[in-house]
Amino acid sequence: MRVTLSVLKADIGSIGGHIKPGERLKSRVREFIEDKGTKLIHDYFLSSTGDDIAILISHSRGEGNSDIHKLAWDAFKAGTELAKEMGLYGAGQDLLKDAFSGNIKGMGPAVAEMEFEERPNEPFLFFAADKTDPGAYNLPLYLGFVDPMYCSGLILSPKMSKGFKFDIMDVEHTEGDRLVSLNAPEELYDLAALLRDNERFVIEKIHSRSSGDLAASVSTTRLHNIAGKYTGKDDPVMLVRVQGEFPATGEVLAPFAKGHYVAGFMRGSHNGPLMPVKQNEAISFFDGPPVVSCAAFCVHEGKLTEAADAFDHPFWDYVRGRVSRKALDIRDQGFSGPAMLGYSELEYGGIVEKIQDLDKRFKVRK
Ligand code: MG
Repeated sequence: MRVTLSVLKADIGSIGGHIKPGERLKSRVREFIEDKGTKLIHDYFLSSTGDDIAILISHSRGEGNSDIHKLAWDAFKAGTELAKEMGLYGAGQDLLKDAFSGNIKGMGPAVAEMEFEERPNEPFLFFAADKTDPGAYNLPLYLGFVDPMYCSGLILSPKMSKGFKFDIMDVEHTEGDRLVSLNAPEELYDLAALLRDNERFVIEKIHSRSSGDLAASVSTTRLHNIAGKYTGKDDPVMLVRVQGEFPATGEVLAPFAKGHYVAGFMRGSHNGPLMPVKQNEAISFFDGPPVVSCAAFCVHEGKLTEAADAFDHPFWDYVRGRVSRKALDIRDQGFSGPAMLGYSELEYGGIVEKIQDLDKRFKVRK
């Protein structure tokens, strides 16, 4: 059977600043989906990561379907009403447009989708990150799909020996989707040359070169491109099919043990290590650190199994300790140099006026 997985995510308000949306708000969004979605969809799963609520939907309507997108948009709208009633912080902050225009992309919420023919057993992973941007997935995807140091399947599984095709988006190009496709392993160095720049070049999709099948799909929204100003970090979601001709679950998870430094953290203006966290985890230290959650599922005839919480394991407790250490290390440096993002990323925020005012006070010494 052909199935589509769509994950749609938004920050529509949170408790105590940017900590978490809270159970009442999540229940409101869930009730809306239960009430209005049953005829449209096969199944759904709702969770939060930091201050964001994500709705994972299984259906048969293909990617970019306006009914599915509208369902999520209206659910987020309904949640926003409650968030306003409750006086939650940043109520409706990711809903950047007033009226739904057929596709939730470009309206604020993040969306990642994949349509495929279900395998007899179809395991997949749903990632959600908070306090960071879509480039946060570049390095883990690179390592999990092309590096045999992480993905032993590239050596051990004949189904993976042809490698993968990466579709990469230039997210600085705002007049339309500007994409390039690169093949691993032949173009590994070209791939690395682009993926090093997490703020500009973002993996959108990955395909198996053995079967041509879609392996991964990432939300590529940069909110400042939509709003023209800083409105919060993009907080990307991602879907990854695993096993068979794709990397094993553990091969996709392994690179997240790095806790690599990503853009985001406090006011979306700093670099911090990406911490793998359990489902529904909150945000804390320095409005961070940047976090990523992962729920693992099988989907069968459109129905989702219960979620297995991939980062809820003693191993990841140890990793979280190490990542905390990395967070403290870079925070030691305050605003200086690489601890804070470069000016091009900050130019959507308030620092621009400050620099402009200061600029007038400069004099060239004769
Ligand atoms: Mg968020």
